[in-house]
Amino acid sequence: MGKIYFTCSFDDGHVADLRLAELLAKFNVKATFYIPRSCEWCSASLAENEIRTLSSFIEVGGHTMTHPILTKVSYKQARNEIFDCKHWLEDVTGKAIRSFCPPVGRFNKDHVSLQREAGFTSMRTVEMLTHSMGSVKKVRDFVILPTTCQVYNHSNISYLKNNVKRMKFVSYISAWRLFDANWETMSRNFLNYLYSMSLTQQQDHYFHLWGHSWELSQFSLWQSLERFFACLREVGGFEFIDNSTLAEVVRQGRQEVALNAY
Ligand SMILES: [Zn+2]
Repeated sequence: MGKIYFTCSFDDGHVADLRLAELLAKFNVKATFYIPRSCEWCSASLAENEIRTLSSFIEVGGHTMTHPILTKVSYKQARNEIFDCKHWLEDVTGKAIRSFCPPVGRFNKDHVSLQREAGFTSMRTVEMLTHSMGSVKKVRDFVILPTTCQVYNHSNISYLKNNVKRMKFVSYISAWRLFDANWETMSRNFLNYLYSMSLTQQQDHYFHLWGHSWELSQFSLWQSLERFFACLREVGGFEFIDNSTLAEVVRQGRQEVALNAY
């Protein structure tokens, strides 16, 4: 029987992360919070003492200093954003910061090289519908983690665009029968699918749920997230890990891919 790893990640460092951290702790679900120092659309960012407190029980990852789209700024600015956010978060938390997430999921191969040079060991993307440990890519020891579902009610077309943009037709086709416009139903469908595969296969799989705490408030998704976590704990059988731990699991079992694949 294969294992199913469950990981979460939430971006932008909004103050609603404090409420989210309580919810995660209530169900002992592991997560990684990707936190920039400032974010144009975050009306209320976490203060440094709040980030320090969160880092005592949740993994904190880099999300640049000012949340620019890296592909729209110069190489020099991208370098500073990537290096400086690692130093800043390490000063604030007193811990090594290993995971990084590029704002809105936009990056190129230079940015992957810069993250490796800065000392990050993994990057989370916004690619969705992935679940196979075998499909997670590495650039030497640097792990690129795609996701499975977002805590957001996407249309079928949004999932199609997300996959087609990355030429991942196989992910879309293999998941189309799991689609539902409600994120919670879609995620439950996906988990049932992974669970049935785990009964008959030796291969390990993961489910990576990501989102933004400010969206939970904006779209009234708190209740559905709590219900989903309660259901996970009731069903059992999942291994709950943060993003850098998932990257470490991948690191120990995957072949390298060429850097120019990105
Ligand atoms: Zn962001």
